[in-house]
Amino acid sequence: MTVTLNFHGAAGTVTGSCYRIVHPQGQFLVDCGMFQGNKTVRDLNYNKLPFDPQKLDYVLLTHAHIDHCGLLPKLAKLGYRNKMYMTEPTSGLLEYLLPDAAGIQESETERETKKRGRRGEAPVEPLYKMEDATEALRHRATVEYGEWLEPGPGVRARYWNAGHILGSASIEVEVKDGDGQAIRLLFSGDIGPDEKVFYLEPNAPAGFDYILCESTYGGREREDYTLEQRREGLKAEINTALQRGGNLVIPTFAVERSQELLHDIGLLIKNGDIDPSLVFLDSPLASKVTGVYKKYEAMFEDVELGADELFTDKRFRIVEAVEESKAINAIKGGAIIMSASGMADAGRIKHHLRNNLVRANATVLFVGYQAPGTLGQIIQSGAREVRIHGELVPVRATIRTLVNYSAHADHSELMAWIKDRLPAHGALFLTHGEDEERKALRESVIASYGLGGDQVIMPMLDDAFDLRAEGVKGVSRPAAPRIDLSQMTSDWHNAYASFVIDLSHLLQSADSDARRLQIMAALKAELAETAEAPPPPKRVVPTRPAGEFRGEPGGE
Ligand SMILES: [Zn+2]
Repeated sequence: MTVTLNFHGAAGTVTGSCYRIVHPQGQFLVDCGMFQGNKTVRDLNYNKLPFDPQKLDYVLLTHAHIDHCGLLPKLAKLGYRNKMYMTEPTSGLLEYLLPDAAGIQESETERETKKRGRRGEAPVEPLYKMEDATEALRHRATVEYGEWLEPGPGVRARYWNAGHILGSASIEVEVKDGDGQAIRLLFSGDIGPDEKVFYLEPNAPAGFDYILCESTYGGREREDYTLEQRREGLKAEINTALQRGGNLVIPTFAVERSQELLHDIGLLIKNGDIDPSLVFLDSPLASKVTGVYKKYEAMFEDVELGADELFTDKRFRIVEAVEESKAINAIKGGAIIMSASGMADAGRIKHHLRNNLVRANATVLFVGYQAPGTLGQIIQSGAREVRIHGELVPVRATIRTLVNYSAHADHSELMAWIKDRLPAHGALFLTHGEDEERKALRESVIASYGLGGDQVIMPMLDDAFDLRAEGVKGVSRPAAPRIDLSQMTSDWHNAYASFVIDLSHLLQSADSDARRLQIMAALKAELAETAEAPPPPKRVVPTRPAGEFRGEPGGE
C-alpha cells in the first residue's frame, strides 16, 4: 500500500484547509478548517465529510485561525475522540476560539429557526454546539517547535515557526510507505511576511519529497516596507480619517491583527502621532485572545512598548459587555472602533458598520484579506448599498484599505520561502489561494526554479494523489464533486443579492412612478422569455480517472 494525500479544503479557495494522509498504518489530518465565503462554499461546512472522522488516528494543527481549525468541533460531534496536536500558544487560543465559533453557530441557527418558524418551516440544526467545542478541546495535546513528535506508527512530525500568528507552524511530516521507505512532506500552514511585529521570519528546513505551500497572495506584490513605514501608513490613515470628523471603523480579526493594531496604535499615541478620543476593541473574543497574547509576550520580537504598556493605554476600551458595545453607537466622531469579524461577515462589526457606513464623515479601513462574497469584500469593492441584518444601508463613508497589515507573505516572500525549502523531488502543491493567485505563483516558480510543469500542481477539491518517494504516481478525482466548483469564487446567491440592490437603485432613480411600472413590466416580459429559452450548456468540470499521472492536474 502506498501513501495518499487528499485535498479536502483550501484547494481552489483560500479557506477550509484540510489535508488527509492515508498510509499503510493508518490515516490522519493536517488541519480541519471552516469554509468561509459565498453560500456555495459555506455549504461545504454542512455537507457530509468526504471521510469517516472515527477512522482518523490524530490531527496535526498548523495554527488557530478558524479556516484551519474551525471544523474540529464537527469532528468531535461525529465521534472523533483521538488527539489533536498543536503548539502550546495555539492550544491557548483554541480555548476561546472554538467556543466562540460554536456560539456563533448556535445564535445564527436560533435566528434562522425563528425566521422559519414564522413561515411554518422546520427548525435548522447548528453546524455544531458548545458541547462539541468543549469535547474537541479535551483532545488537545501540545508540541514544542523543533522537536520530533511520533503521533502514531509509521509517522513522525516536527513543527516550525511560520511567522504568521501566535503559535503558528509549518509542519514537517515523514510517513513510511508500504516498503518502509519514508516520504518527506512539508505543510507550509500560513506563512507570515518578512516584516512582522512579534515574530521572527518563518524557518522550516529544506529538501523534501513534497511541499505544500499556501498561495493567498501568490500573485500580489506589496511595496517593501519596514515596521516603521507600516506604522507611518497607519498614522496617515488615522489622521486623515479623524480629520473628516467621523469615526474610523476597522474590521479586524480577533487573533493577531487586533493585537498588532493595539501595539501600533498604542505606540503612535505614546509618541504623540495621533490623537483619537477613544480606541475601542469591541469583541469579547479579541479581548480574551489579547489575554493569551499577554501570557506569551516573552516569545515576542520587535515589540517597542514595555510589558506594562503593551495592549494598555488610558484611551483603550477593550469591550466585552453588550451594554458597553451598544453605548459606542452614541459616538458620532473622533473614535477608532475596531471590531470582529475581520471580514465583517459576523459579529459586532456589523452593528458598527450599519451605524457608520451611512455617515459621510466616517471612514472604514480594511486591514486584512476579504474573501469573495463576504460583507467586507462587498463594501471594499465599492458597493453603494449593502444589506446588513436584513436592512439596506447606503454606503456614504470613505472606504480605505491598508495592505501592509496582512499576516501573509506576498509573492516575493512566498517565492523566497519556496526557494529556501527546495528541492521538492516529487512535487510542489499550491493550495490556500484563489486560482488567479496560485496560477501566478506557479508560473513564477516554473520560470525561476527549473521545476517542470507536472511538478507544480494546483490540486482541486477532494483530489487524491498517490505519492511515491520518486514522484506522484497517480491522481483521482471524485466523480461527483461535493459542490458546483464553478460557483466557488462567485455564486448565484451573490449575483442575486447585487441584482436586487441594482434593481432597487434603478427603480429609485426613475423620474416617475409610471416609469417605474414601465421598467418592471419590461423586466417581467424579458424574464418570461428567458425562462422559456433552452438552458445554457453546462460548464464541464474536468474529471480525471485514477491511474498513471501525466501532466498538470487541476485548476486549468
Ligand atoms: Zn492563518
